[in-house]
Amino acid sequence: MFYQPIVHLQSRDIFGFESLFRLITNDNKVMMPQEIIPVAEETGLIIDLGQKILDSVLNFSDRLPENIKISVNISPVQFDKPGFEDELIKSIKDKKVNPEKLIIEITESTLMSNISDKIKKIDKLKESGIQIALDDFGTGYSSLNYLKRFPLDYLKIDISFVSGIGKDKSDEMIVKTIISMAKNLNMMTIAEGIENEEQLRFLKYEGCDLGQGYYFGKPASQSEILKLTGKKGL
Ligand code: C2E
Ligand code: CA
Ligand code: CA
Repeated sequence: MFYQPIVHLQSRDIFGFESLFRLITNDNKVMMPQEIIPVAEETGLIIDLGQKILDSVLNFSDRLPENIKISVNISPVQFDKPGFEDELIKSIKDKKVNPEKLIIEITESTLMSNISDKIKKIDKLKESGIQIALDDFGTGYSSLNYLKRFPLDYLKIDISFVSGIGKDKSDEMIVKTIISMAKNLNMMTIAEGIENEEQLRFLKYEGCDLGQGYYFGKPASQSEILKLTGKKGL
């Protein structure tokens, strides 16, 4: 697993890290998640792979300072599996990890079907102390109904809107609207894919709480990440 820093936009102090899957082949080629995750979802292998990812992330989280969060992407197939939440809560207990360190990232497609079942799962996870982020917000169906019905903690503003800041007025308007809506619903915002000063300035001005992107740091190995955790701001 690789990890990308998520920072508080005002202070640039580290808030946490998003875990991102990489597959290193025997001949040392790096395969990216988009080459692997969709196939793993189709074949059902995502259940085992997702479990391995969670184990690895939980082990790593134990090596990070108490106040540092770690977020992990959960595929809809994995989230849908009966008992997913119980297994996760159990492995956190077994590994003696503080559940408040963990954020799980789900997408709108996860929330689309069996809504009452999903609400129960999310409630259980939240009761245990785990937080929930809604990933890629704005790219899917973006039914405002989800935001009202699900007790989510963070909205992640998709990279496609952040990359339009400074170039496209409608992207800027969408970003502004997402931030103010999240505030009104008591959710924090995390901007993805911040690559330059102009995007950062805009997001700070509009009151976005947190952000990640190449401007602060690319996804990196565990040893590189451990070197960052002592730093005051990125
Ligand atoms: P995502 O969750 O939206 O992750 C953010 C993606 O944006 C990552 O791509 C990250 O490397 C990339 N990124 C971060 N900052 C920047 C930036 O400043 N500019 C640009 N252009 N890109 C940036 P990555 O690692 O290739 O992951 C792609 C997608 O694969 C993820 O999108 C997520 O949906 C999925 N994925 C990654 N790891 C996992 C995993 O462990 N489990 C599951 N189920 N899905 C995963
Ligand atoms: Ca994500
Ligand atoms: Ca995303």
